[in-house]
Amino acid sequence: EPELAGDFGTLMEWADKHRRMKVRANAETPADCKMARQFGAEGVGLCRTEHMFFDATRISAVRQMILAEDEAGRRAALEKLLPEQRADFQAIFEEMAGLPVTIRLLDPPLHEFLPQGDAEFAELSEAIGIGVDTLKRRAGELHELNPMLGHRGCRLGITFPEIYEMQARAIFEAACDVASASGDAPVPEVMIPLVATRKELEILKKVVDVTAAKVFGEKGRTLDYMVGTMIELPRAALMAGDIAHEARFFSFGTNDLTQTTLGVSRDDAGRFLSPYVEKGIYPRDPFVSIDVEGVGQLVELGAERGRATRPDLKLGICGEHGGDPASIAFCEKVGLDYVSASPYRVPIARLAAAQAALG
Ligand code: PEP
Ligand code: MG
Repeated sequence: EPELAGDFGTLMEWADKHRRMKVRANAETPADCKMARQFGAEGVGLCRTEHMFFDATRISAVRQMILAEDEAGRRAALEKLLPEQRADFQAIFEEMAGLPVTIRLLDPPLHEFLPQGDAEFAELSEAIGIGVDTLKRRAGELHELNPMLGHRGCRLGITFPEIYEMQARAIFEAACDVASASGDAPVPEVMIPLVATRKELEILKKVVDVTAAKVFGEKGRTLDYMVGTMIELPRAALMAGDIAHEARFFSFGTNDLTQTTLGVSRDDAGRFLSPYVEKGIYPRDPFVSIDVEGVGQLVELGAERGRATRPDLKLGICGEHGGDPASIAFCEKVGLDYVSASPYRVPIARLAAAQAALG
């Protein structure tokens, strides 16, 4: 297992003795989980489930799930997706062998799920038996001028709670099966994305809790699990004290938090932020290193207000900043419990976390 052998492995061992924060990985495939563990990850901090929905064999059902005319139509599509989603989570739980796994419920750019062009509409119509005209009308109803600020994250879960219900069912069924088959019982951490208000979280936490209870009844066993939220909107950071009533953990999504705090698109920023850094307007690219003065204040405030409500609130970060040494030093200062980085950055994060704890 210790892939990081030799002097480097020794260095990593020293680092691990000194760091306070845990280091997890952002991973959504068993292969990434395996690599993350070889690099020393102590859990999955972010499993982005939307990546699982683009699979060629699933995309028709995914489109049906979004474009069906009514709940019965959506549920028919979700029935098809459930076994595959359960297998996704089972493989991850097995690979992570009892380490914590944070699974984020669907946070799609909705437009990427919609068919494009007549040929795709015709093909989908053929596959799911809904007329092309109906599909086009539904797609039109869901069309957004700015999808990145649209029907994303928990807003989708509020509109279509049955999607989150299917995912929660897949998580708990997989976790129960893995727990029964091995000694390492998974402790799923179910994470709700793009929450702005306590009410959103309250509604969706209930969907998760009710589903967990049903699955535990069916399986004749229970499991520990947690429900928590991303903090990735300024409103969520400001209202963290309120939101923490419904959350066992917070994970700061500093990609979206940077985008929404600076009002700069995370997808186009590269084009004009380089001159910004050259001119000293920002000391570093704020999408690489946390903008300590602005975004950092929101992280600090969110952590303080959340912990004031719930002293044992678990706090982490899963934006790209979680693998950036300067940002990791900031996370240490704020007192986060863990950082989560892409698998290849896990060793750097372990070193940076140790340096931050010693510094
Ligand atoms: C984030 O916004 O920081 C985050 C981790 O989520 P995503 O990058 O998937 O939006
Ligand atoms: Mg995000």
